[in-house]
Amino acid sequence: MGVGVERAAQLERLGVRTVGDLLLLRPRRHEDRRHGLRLVELRGKGPATARGRVVAAGVKRFRGGNRSVYELVLDDGTARLHCRWWNMPYLEGRFAVGEDVMAYGRLVDLKPRTMDHPETEVLAEDDEVSIHLDRIVPVYPLTEGLPQRWMRSRLWALVSALAAGLPEPRPELDRADLPTRADAVRWLHFPEDMTDVEVARRRLAYDEFVELQWAIQTRRQTLFASVTGLPCGGEGNRWIRPFLERLGFKLTESQTTVLRDIRRDLGGGRPMRRLVQGDVGSGKTVVAACAALMALESGFGVALMAPTEILARQHAERFREWFTPLGIPVVLRTGAGVDGNEAARVGLTVGTHALLASGYLPDDLGLVVIDEQHKFGVSQRETLVRKGRYPHLLVMTATPIPRTLALTLYGDLDCSVIEQAPAGRGRVRTFVRTARGLGKVWEFVRKRLAEGRQAYVVYARVDDDGAGEVKAVTREWRHLCATLAPHAVGLVHGRLSSAEKETVMAEFRAGRVQVLVATLVIEVGVDVPNATVMVIENAEQFGLAQLHQLRGRIGRGGHEGTCILVAGRETEASRVRLRVLEECADGFAIAERDLRLRGPGELLGQAQSGLPALRFGDLTRDAEWVERARQAVAKHLGQ
Ligand code: ADP
Ligand code: MG
Repeated sequence: MGVGVERAAQLERLGVRTVGDLLLLRPRRHEDRRHGLRLVELRGKGPATARGRVVAAGVKRFRGGNRSVYELVLDDGTARLHCRWWNMPYLEGRFAVGEDVMAYGRLVDLKPRTMDHPETEVLAEDDEVSIHLDRIVPVYPLTEGLPQRWMRSRLWALVSALAAGLPEPRPELDRADLPTRADAVRWLHFPEDMTDVEVARRRLAYDEFVELQWAIQTRRQTLFASVTGLPCGGEGNRWIRPFLERLGFKLTESQTTVLRDIRRDLGGGRPMRRLVQGDVGSGKTVVAACAALMALESGFGVALMAPTEILARQHAERFREWFTPLGIPVVLRTGAGVDGNEAARVGLTVGTHALLASGYLPDDLGLVVIDEQHKFGVSQRETLVRKGRYPHLLVMTATPIPRTLALTLYGDLDCSVIEQAPAGRGRVRTFVRTARGLGKVWEFVRKRLAEGRQAYVVYARVDDDGAGEVKAVTREWRHLCATLAPHAVGLVHGRLSSAEKETVMAEFRAGRVQVLVATLVIEVGVDVPNATVMVIENAEQFGLAQLHQLRGRIGRGGHEGTCILVAGRETEASRVRLRVLEECADGFAIAERDLRLRGPGELLGQAQSGLPALRFGDLTRDAEWVERARQAVAKHLGQ
């Protein structure tokens, strides 16, 4: 792009390879240099920009030369400003007496006026002064050897030459009340007013959301145009009726409503793509079972996929209890092998990701149910769909996903929400405690165990982290065996083999093990109604949504549940964050909080989140613009 090899390498380290990249390089901040403060006016705590001539500069060393300070003194005729850099002796020679310098930082002292480690810029008397002074100037991220002034001049030239000619990416779409892309790029770098910066960002974010929605919605259109859905709407309630009669409870209104959506999709002539969101304990499994029965009644096979082997096994057991009396075979396929009669006629196959890896899916597949979607990558969802014919797809997630994220990640799915939990379920009360109160916590746990209840104790790590800040499950398990004796204490974590894990889980389910000491492997789906107590140590290590998921494991059997969050490091911030869970039981509200506090990556789990890389868009606060982009694209594509 017309710069030397060295500059190109420096720019590349900022992720800039083309002129286009450079035009979209986001300034770190903007500095208003229109009304320069005189040094004598400089006071207060906030960051400020100051300007003066260098009257002195040099390194002072202390005691034996181990510590040093480089000091720069600026003077503008009204007062002096001391700028200090600690232990950076190599700065010697950076500034020369007489130079005109701009400094940006906070005052740490008023007598004399002093800033520590300010950002500085030497102002040269050349014809470019108008770019760097008397205006709002951009301050760019830099890399070693790349000067701020060079970047600013370069961008000034680029923006002047190119911005006006930038095309509108999709002129046919409604642009809401946003500026043109050309103006947005100009203001991104050289705004006329500080508020222009945010307006520009919003426009560029909107473009990103439009592109995402375009991709999502055209993919959906193509799918629906090229394939027809298999007729899976069920036949005369042949199996659903006896299933529901034997269930022992009535479906909630929410469950019924969602099932109506599903039945319509399954019989509707195009492949279902539906996401069912329901808080932990809202009863998604029964909904999955009914959907499966509809497809089975219509003569198609069904696959149910869970994120872990523990869950796959649990589902297989539950579905066998439900389906065997109806004469429907249930096969479990995991990494460990196949359990059940494969030669059997059309039935239900339960598995984990291994179902995908092995390339195995029955020929007559009519419906795929994916439980606990957030552990499943979007691309995995795609693989699944491409195999063979296009089965109907039902995705179930217990992570309440704020709408902004749902639209971005699952915009190609229709969405149903199970809003209400089954009545008569035990409440879960949540308490935040500190490590100092652990003695009382174990006393409480022992009391519940003596009453015949069971408990989970959750840790953030498998092994010690060395620093000793976060407790490790392996070590704590040994302590707890002693602390909670004579009750049997089991241990389960991700490093155990699946056979080992399954043995412990089976013992826990059967009540022979009273306490399960575990890592996050129990996060999703595990259902043991007699377990009513959960202690989570180092709770500050987890996200709020994650903790909410975890506590959803208890209070299932009509007994009241108790969740105790033990904060290891007692920072005020982490305690305030955890308190949210003491007061709030609404998974969606908690997820919104988590999204704002920790960002989407943390909320969803970085690796599997499948989040798009956004340069300007911010999913934590651009909900309105995601929605607008979706509507604009939908309107244009006629959806
Ligand atoms: P999740 O939505 O977290 O997957 P589950 O499907 O595991 O929840 O259901 C949690 C518990 O609630 C299970 O024990 C299930 O049998 C029970 N359940 C589900 N629906 C109802 C209902 N309508 N009435 C009473 N209990 C129900
Ligand atoms: Mg579940």
